[in-house]
Amino acid sequence: MSDGLFSDATSVLTEAMQYADISPDTVELLRQPKSVLQVSIPVRRDDGTLDSFTGYRVRYNDSRGPTKGGIRFHPSVTVDEVQTLAFWMTIKTAIVDLPYGGGKGGITVDPKALSTHELERLSRGYIDAIADFIGPDVDIPAPDVYTNELVMSWMMDQYSTIRRQRVPDVITGKPITLGGSLGRSTATGDGGFYVAKTLLSRVIGNEHQPTVAVQGFGNAGAVIAARLHEIGCRVVAVSDSKGGIFRPEGLDVPSVQRVKQDSGLLTAAQFQGNVCDIQDYEPVTQDELLALDVDILVPAALENAITTRNAESVQAKMIVELANGPISAEADKILHRNGITVLPDVLANAGGVVVSYFEWVQNRQGFPWTAEQVDERLQTRMITETERLWSAATERNTSLRVAAYALALERIGEAVDAKGSTDAYRPKG
Ligand code: NAD
Repeated sequence: MSDGLFSDATSVLTEAMQYADISPDTVELLRQPKSVLQVSIPVRRDDGTLDSFTGYRVRYNDSRGPTKGGIRFHPSVTVDEVQTLAFWMTIKTAIVDLPYGGGKGGITVDPKALSTHELERLSRGYIDAIADFIGPDVDIPAPDVYTNELVMSWMMDQYSTIRRQRVPDVITGKPITLGGSLGRSTATGDGGFYVAKTLLSRVIGNEHQPTVAVQGFGNAGAVIAARLHEIGCRVVAVSDSKGGIFRPEGLDVPSVQRVKQDSGLLTAAQFQGNVCDIQDYEPVTQDELLALDVDILVPAALENAITTRNAESVQAKMIVELANGPISAEADKILHRNGITVLPDVLANAGGVVVSYFEWVQNRQGFPWTAEQVDERLQTRMITETERLWSAATERNTSLRVAAYALALERIGEAVDAKGSTDAYRPKG
């Protein structure tokens, strides 16, 4: 994650505070994380040597409930990065009205340089080191960059071993067989789709078939591309880290998904026998894709895809931020000035944490839900909160992002004030 992300994140916070009715106590509590833990994790390598890795877990704010947030394995993980991500989770859980606060964790490691057994020892060692800091009613981790279902299984098993009882609700994003939820793997793309669909006619109008470009045809990006394609949008371009493809008449998204799954390459599509599915297309660079004259642009790859360098070239009418922080704070102002509607990451990619919450609820109930129940509840929540946000932005005459932060701040503030422990307690109504 690049420098300046925490200051970008908090600069939105400062702006949003002007539009939020919150007590000074809330402002003070949100200025810094509640607690930060740094640990050293010794790992026996396969060759018999011992290496130590640095890990972190940050609980930013727990006014609304136990803290919730993923664990990242990446060489660039720092305490500042984890703190920024924990702050975002505080806003995100509030904007979709979950009974959670925000947290995050990470280990500074290149996971690709470790064998599977070394990764397992690292994952279990991390839980040994942070076990007293987490728990189903305290802080509930989940997967993030370079951690997956298998890592969550090891971690849940280790925590259960320490507590001498099975504790599935200590972590989410588990495999179904160990208490994971149906619908979790597609939840982020599905959630972004419900947000986009709710606002589609208001932002784009109904006159024509909306066109779409997706940067980052991965887990989240491929799902939203497929769902928009299903409702009749024309997905004209998609890209991944190896390149992009463009077809003005529209791509057949299921075929592209199949080809990518089989070959790992979007550009391999041209070598497939099934040409009537894929048909001809032009290659497109990442910068060209972001500047395409489309109705909907979905950055679903990495942070800072749109900065002051390329913000003026963006022509889309609506941007759905599936990635975390794909638009820098300065670029956001340019887009706003140019009349582009940005559906902010804190809502647009919150489907994952919503279904994580559903997983936790199912674990506590001991009663798994059907895929239909999960999808219906996700859809209802995303649509409700999108409508609420649209009204808040209209009433306050702000961007959706500033309104999202203001709304989240008010929800956090209500919880802070409702505890009534200070002079700032002001009964409302
Ligand atoms: P992923 O690894 O499955 O997909 C990322 C995709 O982006 C890959 O296809 C990769 O090739 C592509 N990519 C990388 N660099 C690129 C570049 N420069 N240009 C174009 N494409 C590039 O990851 P994901 O789970 O889909 O996550 C994508 C984004 O969504 C991340 O920012 C992540 O933090 C965010 N997000 C994901 C979830 C989730 O549940 N998966 C939840 C919230 C936020």
